[in-house]
Amino acid sequence: MSTRRSTSSGQNAPSDGQGLERQLRLARARNHTLQLRLRAVADNLGHGLSLYDRHGHLVVCNQQFLDIYRLPPELGKAGTSFRRILEARVRNNTHVGTDGPGYVEGRVAAVREHRPMGGIHRLNSGQVISMTHQPMADGGWVSTHRDVTELFNMQAELTHLAYHDPLTGLPNRTLFYQRIAHAFDSLGETGGFAVLCLDLDGFKPINDLHGHATGDALLRQFASRLTRALGAGDTAARMGGDEFAILHGGDEESALDLAHRLAEICQQPFDFDGEVVSIAVGIGIAHAPVDGADTDALLHSADLALYSAKRGGRGGIRAYAPDLDSEAADRRRLEAELRRAIENGEFELYYQPILDLRGGSFAGFEALIRWEHPERGRVSPAEFIPVAEESGLIVMIGEWALREAFAEAARWPAELRVAVNVSTIQLRRGNLVATVMNALAQSGLAPCRAEIEITESVFLEQSEQSLEALRQLRALGVRIALDDFGTGFSALSYLLAFPFDKLKIDGSFVRALETSDGAATIVSAVADIGSRLGMSTTAEGIETPEQLRAVHAAGYAEAQGYLISRPLTRKSIRAMLHAHYDTMPEAPVSEREAS
Ligand code: C2E
Ligand code: MG
Ligand code: MG
Repeated sequence: MSTRRSTSSGQNAPSDGQGLERQLRLARARNHTLQLRLRAVADNLGHGLSLYDRHGHLVVCNQQFLDIYRLPPELGKAGTSFRRILEARVRNNTHVGTDGPGYVEGRVAAVREHRPMGGIHRLNSGQVISMTHQPMADGGWVSTHRDVTELFNMQAELTHLAYHDPLTGLPNRTLFYQRIAHAFDSLGETGGFAVLCLDLDGFKPINDLHGHATGDALLRQFASRLTRALGAGDTAARMGGDEFAILHGGDEESALDLAHRLAEICQQPFDFDGEVVSIAVGIGIAHAPVDGADTDALLHSADLALYSAKRGGRGGIRAYAPDLDSEAADRRRLEAELRRAIENGEFELYYQPILDLRGGSFAGFEALIRWEHPERGRVSPAEFIPVAEESGLIVMIGEWALREAFAEAARWPAELRVAVNVSTIQLRRGNLVATVMNALAQSGLAPCRAEIEITESVFLEQSEQSLEALRQLRALGVRIALDDFGTGFSALSYLLAFPFDKLKIDGSFVRALETSDGAATIVSAVADIGSRLGMSTTAEGIETPEQLRAVHAAGYAEAQGYLISRPLTRKSIRAMLHAHYDTMPEAPVSEREAS
């Protein structure tokens, strides 16, 4: 131990010239070793490194540093000036945004003045370099250069994902809200802008019927049609599901123009490997700042307008107006009252006789719901059924109606049928087949005495599931009637798509009989179609003897209307049946009091 110490102290204390020379050699060798070690460390750092002295001369750099900036090996030698390296870097890689002649001078001055210089640089190669700059006590500096391209791209992708819908690539709700907020901020310059809310009609059935792959492809195609139709400053976003929205920099007129253009574009059928599907789009428009002073208020107005557009039928366009607010409030109130009405049993079924035109007696009765509102009195089904459908409450109400009507009909003479109106929503959301089966079982009514009335809207849904439910009901022996025929789209293909037992031509044609030749033609054509397809026919809304004669002459099997009888309470029906049929059982005392 002590020997070694003395050797080492001998080295540190040169005593003669020869010793000095040896010292120098040793120092150089050590310096060289140090350089090599430094270089070895630097090369294994995993990122580029360059070390400069206080004169701006390179002390050491590593291979990665040279690689990143594609510098030739000779520039990596100790003593190369920072300026030369910088010039070569700019020449080779041209940092994005460093084209100006002042760039090199600026950097050289910056290191001279010990200003911090780290940051992210993008090279023209696409690489992204994260650079640190660390001044050292002796006036030199060390800088590291890390290739963060992958990280950077990942970050960018994450940011993109956070603000875009992965399916369509459109901005998502979050980004859309930001854009609207920005548009509000710029109101001073623009004066106003519009928001359009879009909702595809009949998308869900396409998804159900053609599969999710087709549904997704449809949304993508729809999104690209949208994008192509927009102006430069406009933003289209996917808000979720089949809901889209557009931010449009324009006045009322140009927004309405855009809406019509979009509606037209969407009407062109979509083609998926030969599978052609068509959709319509409902559009609601709101303008800032008049229809909403902030993002939420504006979107709410556009939503109300959309809602109103959709209520008007397929592919509607509607701009917001203040009366939509009170309509929405009315609807909400009505919905709350409907819930209460279900609990309190405020509904009652009336029964309208249906006349058998061949035999001259009653064929049966159509059950029509009535709501006795505690304050408002009687509310028409035309008013509350749509609200019950939108809220889904129709499922419960409809179930009640089926049970009630079947139980009542079970008391009637066996040749009389009961017809119950069923909403498409019940087919879609409720389990109609099970509900009907339960109601039949509970009441003991023979299935052939039960008739379900549905409207053409069941076909608008294009839902195979709904048609299948109807097929099952028919297989049980329940009759299926197509109600209000002629008021919807009345495609004759509907009649081929499902074997209805009965067609009910809408009362509006019967009412127009006297005034319109066209109506007379339609009335008799429907009777013909029915007889050719083996479907029974009923004429609704008969109010005059002339109308009754006309539909009779046209060949209708049944007639229904105020002329024959208005809808009656079950009590009146029972009394009437009791008078006509000796076999009609008397209602039990408790029930008689109840009704
Ligand atoms: P709908 O099924 O077409 O029923 C015929 C409507 O015409 C009934 O209106 C009936 O009272 C009325 N009506 C009958 N004869 C005449 C006539 O000679 N002249 C005129 N002007 N009208 C006549 P109501 O009871 O107001 O029902 C309206 C609609 O509400 C029904 O049309 C039906 O679609 C729906 N609805 C009624 N009850 C129910 C139900 O229990 N469930 C469902 N889902 N819908 C129902
Ligand atoms: Mg009906
Ligand atoms: Mg009808």
